[in-house]
Amino acid sequence: MKESKITVIGAGNVGSSVAYALILKNIASHIVLIDIDTVRCKGELLDLSDAMPFCRTSELTTGTTKDARDADIIIICAGKAQKPGESRTDLLQANKKIIESIFKDLKPINKNAIVIIVSNPVDILTYHAQQLSGLPKNQVFGSGTLLDTQRLLGILSKRLGIAEQSIDAYVIGEHGDSQVCAWSLANVAGIPLTNFKELKKGDYKKIEDEVKNQAYEIISCKGSTHYGIATCVASICETIMYDQKGILPLSTFIPEFDVCFSMPAVLGKNGIERVLYPKLSNDEQEKLKQSASKLKKIL
Ligand code: NAD
Repeated sequence: MKESKITVIGAGNVGSSVAYALILKNIASHIVLIDIDTVRCKGELLDLSDAMPFCRTSELTTGTTKDARDADIIIICAGKAQKPGESRTDLLQANKKIIESIFKDLKPINKNAIVIIVSNPVDILTYHAQQLSGLPKNQVFGSGTLLDTQRLLGILSKRLGIAEQSIDAYVIGEHGDSQVCAWSLANVAGIPLTNFKELKKGDYKKIEDEVKNQAYEIISCKGSTHYGIATCVASICETIMYDQKGILPLSTFIPEFDVCFSMPAVLGKNGIERVLYPKLSNDEQEKLKQSASKLKKIL
């Protein structure tokens, strides 16, 4: 049987947590950790190796970016992380250079590889990665607002007393300050969220702010966010490996706006198979346009 190989480039807080989540979920037979800080990378490998006897991943190794050329999935978590008070777009200059150097070393890249961008600002870096990789655009995408959507579902679950998995709601647009909570699409068992008496008129804005500010709050308390995003990335890999055709809000090229940002997308073994464009309220459509124009300006 063909071995499945996932490489994680950037074995810092996010990358090592991604590797841990992949191992626990038994998603690939071989996981490769790559980092320019080879000492830290070795430490993460040794630490993660202690978890291996409980899991089914057979091989965990370290390597260089060249070892990612033949991988089935390449996850990019390398780069500078936000410090307290910094926005994701503040990281752009440093992380764009890092992404460029990584893609130089990734050539020649497996023409069937799926590349997942996690480093921030994820939408802008996804746009560049699509150009730099030479791969079809559907094979290169960002984790986008999947994390924000999970945060939204978590808050709604507590308010409504209903499991996250049974609530249908999306955060779309930029993974950042201009993200849009698509309230008009949100429902439980087909019942619009606005029909639930647990949510009052003034609650929506408060929830939007809570979702948006969660990363800032975590960073101010502990310096980085990594468990949530790691679980999101492992779930993306699982959807690809099992060809599940799940719908996830992922950062992908949106021709109408000529930027990458998140819309609900159908994900399978070949990457993003289809982007869905649900009908939004006029207000949400306007906010989405503003999100796109913010990203376009940065690009
Ligand atoms: P970190 O500083 O802990 O780790 C980054 C790692 O990248 C370091 O170990 C560094 O040595 C490595 N690196 C730098 N250049 C490299 C290169 N050319 N090749 C290989 N490795 C390289 O940071 P972190 O907390 O792990 O965050 C990583 C990135 O993930 C940041 O950009 C952060 O903003 C982003 N992030 C994204 C999300 C999301 O939802 N998309 C969530 C959390 C963090």
